[in-house]
Amino acid sequence: MSTIEQNLQAVRGSIAQAADEAQRPAQDVTLLAVSKTFGADAVLQAVQAGQTAFGENYLQEALDKIAAVKASLPQTVLTWHFIGPIQSNKTRPIAEHFDWVHTVEREKIAVRLSEQRPDGLPDLNICLQVNISGEASKSGVTPAELPALARAVAQLPKLRLRGLMAIPEPETDLTRQRAAFARLRALYEQLRAEGLALDTLSMGMSADLSAAVLEGATIVRVGSAIFGSRNYS
Ligand SMILES: *Cc1c(COP(=O)(O)O)cnc(C)c1O
Repeated sequence: MSTIEQNLQAVRGSIAQAADEAQRPAQDVTLLAVSKTFGADAVLQAVQAGQTAFGENYLQEALDKIAAVKASLPQTVLTWHFIGPIQSNKTRPIAEHFDWVHTVEREKIAVRLSEQRPDGLPDLNICLQVNISGEASKSGVTPAELPALARAVAQLPKLRLRGLMAIPEPETDLTRQRAAFARLRALYEQLRAEGLALDTLSMGMSADLSAAVLEGATIVRVGSAIFGSRNYS
């Protein structure tokens, strides 16, 4: 068994354990394998081990990898999630090559993705990135501005607003990890109570995935626990 396969099994085990503790079906949690900085070979190994959903942060690296994986496995259906910061002049390839975008924090970006999503592709699935850590984080819409952004994005053609995403400040303590995720979940429940048909909470990474599952995550984004530590050089 490859290291990646072993790691995937361990991560799936952690998700199952946390889901069990939360009395949730483990199938309600999608494992997104974050393959940034790792090559197509690593993705192919994960696919061999049954993984089908992959997350990428850096556009050019992602486009090259998606093409390489597709060339190796032309028949295999994978879903690609863009989870990195979005520059407004780079929206077109995101709209063309991804199935999901987790990091929409401005209406302008959503409008561009909507206009640039090619005809013939299914709607692009969208999560709004929310800043739940206050001044400690620069990324994400503020909770105060979230409802207006959500209503605007929900109206746009060719997009399907699925839910919310957050990257809280790193915390080692489980209680504090859970408190941050609970804030995102409360915002999500508020939007649902206002009538938005959301079904996705994208939260939890290698170091805090159990806390996220305990607080209702439906997608956990896991990189290093699957592929090993990243080397950015
Ligand atoms: C890199 C990254 C991850 C994965 O982080 P790990 O700690 O390696 O699991 C998840 N989400 C986002 C947005 C990331 O940039």
